[in-house]
Amino acid sequence: MKLPYTEVRSAIGALTKAIDKSKNLELSTAGIKLQSIISQLMSENDDLEHENKQLKDQLADAWQNQFDRSNLVKYKGVWVADEQTRKKIQLEDCEISDDLLTKMYCPRCLANKDQLISLNDFVNSDGFYVECPVCNFDRLIIEYIL
Ligand SMILES: [Zn+2]
Repeated sequence: MKLPYTEVRSAIGALTKAIDKSKNLELSTAGIKLQSIISQLMSENDDLEHENKQLKDQLADAWQNQFDRSNLVKYKGVWVADEQTRKKIQLEDCEISDDLLTKMYCPRCLANKDQLISLNDFVNSDGFYVECPVCNFDRLIIEYIL
């Protein structure tokens, strides 16, 4: 649990008052030094708290990423988030929605760079393609029968 800084400041204020009353120069110098140390500690504490939050977020992302990967399945040579998504893709007959595309990943980027890169789409006369925005890998996913 975090000690509220207002409590720290009021304790320092009370101490400073008592020191001033004592008119002791040595005590006053020590008090000022202590104040400066405490404010440095509060600032360090803020930095650590911020860093801690960032690390927690990164850890959560890493877990999510790991979880995502454990469910991956292949469809026509492309990685798909999970079995449920693959079933939805199989039901599409002329194009794949943006929602589903964000759950389709480049097999080349995953193999070479260990990155999950969502695919874009383009349409040609022969059908609906997915394409990697990073490495330009492409694959015909829905063939148009003319
Ligand atoms: Zn790629």
